[in-house]
Amino acid sequence: MLKTSPERADRPVLDLEAIRAQFPILTAKLDERPLIYLDSAASTQQPECVIEAVADYHRGHHANIHRGAYRLSRTATRLYEEARERVARFLNAAEPVECLFTRGTTESINLVAASWGRATLQPGDEILVSTLEHHSNLVPWQMVAESRGVRLRAIPIDDAGELDLDAYRRLLSPRTRLVAVNQVSNALGTINPVAEIIAEAHAAGVLVLIDGAQWVAHGPTDVQALDADFYAFSGHKLYGPTGIGVLYGKRRLLESMPPYQGGGDMIERVTFERTTYAGLPNRFEAGTPHISGAVGLAAAIDWVESIGLTAIAAHERALLRQATERLAAIPGLRIKGTARHKSSIISWVMEDPPIATLDIGTALDLRGICIRTGHHCCQPLMDRLGVTATARASFGVYNRPDEVEALAEALSEIRDEAL
Ligand code: PLP
Repeated sequence: MLKTSPERADRPVLDLEAIRAQFPILTAKLDERPLIYLDSAASTQQPECVIEAVADYHRGHHANIHRGAYRLSRTATRLYEEARERVARFLNAAEPVECLFTRGTTESINLVAASWGRATLQPGDEILVSTLEHHSNLVPWQMVAESRGVRLRAIPIDDAGELDLDAYRRLLSPRTRLVAVNQVSNALGTINPVAEIIAEAHAAGVLVLIDGAQWVAHGPTDVQALDADFYAFSGHKLYGPTGIGVLYGKRRLLESMPPYQGGGDMIERVTFERTTYAGLPNRFEAGTPHISGAVGLAAAIDWVESIGLTAIAAHERALLRQATERLAAIPGLRIKGTARHKSSIISWVMEDPPIATLDIGTALDLRGICIRTGHHCCQPLMDRLGVTATARASFGVYNRPDEVEALAEALSEIRDEAL
């Protein structure tokens, strides 16, 4: 699916039509118009090979895992554990057991907050998050902070939506136990300098959790090179199924943590008096997991890597550049988030004439264009920006320049109609 650009023989470009042909939903029409899907930051669409991998699992291999004496169960177990190995290679984890399957980023972060947080945090300790965080990297910390007498502090941002790294350094203190930040802001698209953030935290003896939900589909991830202590992501933002995600954690940290949930599969021995727990990864995967989701996630990773994350990133950067130029030229429209390094997310408000973001989203939907409006689960960030909501378009590997053009033209029309 890679072609060589005629202008730049060294630079591969994506064969967009071949890519799009693999997404059944992209051939759909909304009210006789082609579907223009610009909401990949919420959920990416799934290519046929992912849909087929899940269906194939259900058609021919489904059984509950781990406990079965029969071959079908052993096959299901093998597929599930192979998916874990695939995730480990994708993240460059040192070992597959460092990759836990969860329901998604939200559950991954809740797992760390509930398990590591309750076991480790003491009154007076501090946790650093950032102003850019999604509620799922904020509320779990608030919950554990309340129960443990811990203070939550937020790294501020500047008006462009970049983290204030000087303020970050000042906030790091002997009381800090954890820094929890996202690699990419889902509301503004800011790419945060997580390698630097981790290095600074480690120099101060502080652990770091990276919320990689908005990164993993947009660039290569290497948890060992980053030296991340915890790394969380969701399958449904990586061209995979919903209900499956990953928590990466360094082995020695995961081994030191108590179980998050109790139940089947996470035990070694149970009596009425006491239970001893299984080792990694089972100790953190109580109950029957989302087996087909793991299989689908592995297929999605294969697919993404067959195209290449570097090529995907280059394609999406071009779309972002085009969208930024086109939207900035619309009078009265203000782009929110102008960081130097951005992922393929663009957020804006219509100021003159003022048009509610929900109305923008609805008017675009009537034209077959799917975007997201609202606070994007980032209310503290909206407060900092002085708005209650933004309209957000986000691009995936399958988006074309003519779709960005359609967005810009539709926004101009919507504005003209409101004048
Ligand atoms: N973190 C970020 C940056 C996100 O964008 C999202 C989802 O939009 C999440 C966390 C939560 O992901 P999930 O709903 O898959 O758990």
